[in-house]
Amino acid sequence: MSKYIFVTGGVVSSVGKGITVASMGTILKSRQITVSVQKLDPYLNVDPGTMSPYQHGEVFVTQDGAETDLDLGNYERFIDVNLTADSNVTSGQIYSTVITKERRGDFLGGTIQVVPHVTTEIKQRFEKLAQKSQAEVIIIEVGGTVGDIEGQPFLEAIRQMRNDVGRDNVLYVHVTLLPYLNSTQELKTKPTQHSVNELRRIGIQPDVIICRSDYPIPEEAKNKISLFCDVDREAVIPMPTVSTIYEVPLILEEEGLGQLIVEKLSLKAHQPDLSQWQELVSRLKTPHEPVNIALVGKYVELKDAYFSVREALRHAGLYHNRDINLLWVHSEDLERDGSDALLGSAQGIVVPGGFGIRGIEGMVKAANYARDNEIPYLGLCLGMHVMVIEFARFILGSMEPNSTEFDASTPYPVIDLLPEQKEIENKGGTMRLGNYPCQLVDGSRAASAYGQSLVYERHRHRLEFNNQFRTLLEKAGMVYSGLSPDGKLVELCELANHPWMVSCQFHPEFGSRPTRPHPLFRDFIGAAKDILREGAQPPLPFSP
Ligand code: GLN
Repeated sequence: MSKYIFVTGGVVSSVGKGITVASMGTILKSRQITVSVQKLDPYLNVDPGTMSPYQHGEVFVTQDGAETDLDLGNYERFIDVNLTADSNVTSGQIYSTVITKERRGDFLGGTIQVVPHVTTEIKQRFEKLAQKSQAEVIIIEVGGTVGDIEGQPFLEAIRQMRNDVGRDNVLYVHVTLLPYLNSTQELKTKPTQHSVNELRRIGIQPDVIICRSDYPIPEEAKNKISLFCDVDREAVIPMPTVSTIYEVPLILEEEGLGQLIVEKLSLKAHQPDLSQWQELVSRLKTPHEPVNIALVGKYVELKDAYFSVREALRHAGLYHNRDINLLWVHSEDLERDGSDALLGSAQGIVVPGGFGIRGIEGMVKAANYARDNEIPYLGLCLGMHVMVIEFARFILGSMEPNSTEFDASTPYPVIDLLPEQKEIENKGGTMRLGNYPCQLVDGSRAASAYGQSLVYERHRHRLEFNNQFRTLLEKAGMVYSGLSPDGKLVELCELANHPWMVSCQFHPEFGSRPTRPHPLFRDFIGAAKDILREGAQPPLPFSP
């Protein structure tokens, strides 16, 4: 039977609860304990797929095609597992299931209530993941902070679990913030005490308190938290702010969290081996020559919107011993200020995924600039659409080629809806989602990056390359380097007469791992690192 760790957050959001959960997974896995993870999101959307990135940040797509919270990306990167739809549960899913059951008559005669019907449905999701994954430990993160109205049913469900599975099989971890008061130059523990009080009020006594702070936590603050919150002194775990998120597992391990969990849950564990992780962090902390990569998108004000893309670039940089100097370029600014001003120092350009017409022409400018100036270009989903539009405009000598997403009446719909997508009216969960096979074409840059002939990659889009234009663009130098096995869908394309201009219809960023960069990102940075921009000096030969 699986044991459960429930993680709640207090005081404020954005203190790194998701990274803490991911890191707990890392330190348990380093002891050869099997782990799976679940995120509970209290909002009423069924999934974040229909939310704006400004509301929610990136939508992370699992292999089985679920549109999920970006924390799942961190779980996958930190624990090196591929999660499924079962790892993200929202209030929207829970309520819609309960109401569907009620309409079907499953509860005939009964009054449907939050307790027990909603809480039972929530607990069934815990059990489903435990059964399917067969993991020894299931870590469950409750989104939001304790005290939020919509989080109550989730907290009540995790409270009930203590009796359902036995108190020795559950562990409650509370992650809080110790704010620093400049005037008195001290870290304050009171908000932590209050949020623990709030937890206790609903019947949950935390076993472990993880305290995030921007400053080292003095012994007396730890003692105070232990005393007032009634947790063991060694179960007050400091989590100072660090320069790289990948350092968090090492910090938590050093503070004794791994051993504490093993003891409290009586787990069978091996000695922890975090050597790979230690090496990763020491390489990340060593300064390397930078490579300038422009990320041209329309949500750049909110860096979380491109979380996995940024991480995948970092992983690739690490492989080449380069620091990624990310230039966040707003595509609407490109429309106004021009490419030379904003892309002049870029050694590589990435156009990531996105929806809607805003900023599209700026992205097309970026693709044009990359092609004209032979700057490496990586197009991800929408970035591929943009590359195809730009190339078609160039060879046809017309501004009219477009995607029907942006111009429904273009005479050159180079990107268009598939006939089966045209029939669909609902917006939620109806795109081409999750893993699809892609057959690589020998001799292409993409095939040489992968070193394999068949790969599976994660998708999230409605529109596709329009096959009517295949021959026209091919004659002008576009190579279709990856196709669906039936040959009908263009999955990857690249330009023959360009050092490295490669785009994919899928999202390779979701599959990148810190120690295993995705091949397309790896080769993109490999090409970009050798590009010299105006004003840049080639490294001088070293003479003693
Ligand atoms: N908006 C485009 C589509 O729906 C691209 C989506 C994306 O970049 N994920 O096909």
